[in-house]
Amino acid sequence: TSVADDLRALVRTIPDFPKPGIQFRDITTLMLDRSGLSRAVDALADTVDGPIDLVAAIEARGFAIGGALAVKLGAGLLLIRKDGKLPGKTIAEDYALEYGTDRLAMHVDACTPDARVLVVDDLLATGGTALAAVRLVRRAGGNVVGARFLIDLPELGGGDALVAAGVDARSLLAYE
Ligand code: 5GP
Repeated sequence: TSVADDLRALVRTIPDFPKPGIQFRDITTLMLDRSGLSRAVDALADTVDGPIDLVAAIEARGFAIGGALAVKLGAGLLLIRKDGKLPGKTIAEDYALEYGTDRLAMHVDACTPDARVLVVDDLLATGGTALAAVRLVRRAGGNVVGARFLIDLPELGGGDALVAAGVDARSLLAYE
């Protein structure tokens, strides 16, 4: 069986979470599986060309995938957090939610100029979250060389939005 099929079998779908009509793709079941976790991280690493200085991982599930991928790639780990959680001086970016906005932040000095940065999260939907992370890294002087996700929901347009922003976006699995 293919890696993608094996990983797909490890993702659990929870209907009506966090609200009615949403099919939540739960990756905690994939992460619990020792073979699934390592194969997912290996498969993500295989999509990366050239050296990566920093993996910019998005709170919270992105931390788990991004941390493992950073070790595999020999990169450092840059934490992109919900605003108000980081102790040092930060820069922040707002992004739209279905209702209202949210804000991501990073330490202003977390990224050396022209560092080659890979943005990582568990899942790409509209792309609002990942694009806010891309804007943060670029404002801090980093060079975003791509974005990687376990899962893409292509109908929500995040992949197209990232490509339009000049970001090489790739995912291991797509769900309708
Ligand atoms: P976007 O900003 O692309 O619309 O939404 C992506 C963000 O929402 C990611 O940080 C992701 O963790 C979270 N997210 C949205 N839907 C799901 C889902 O079905 N499963 C998981 N695991 N995360 C989701």
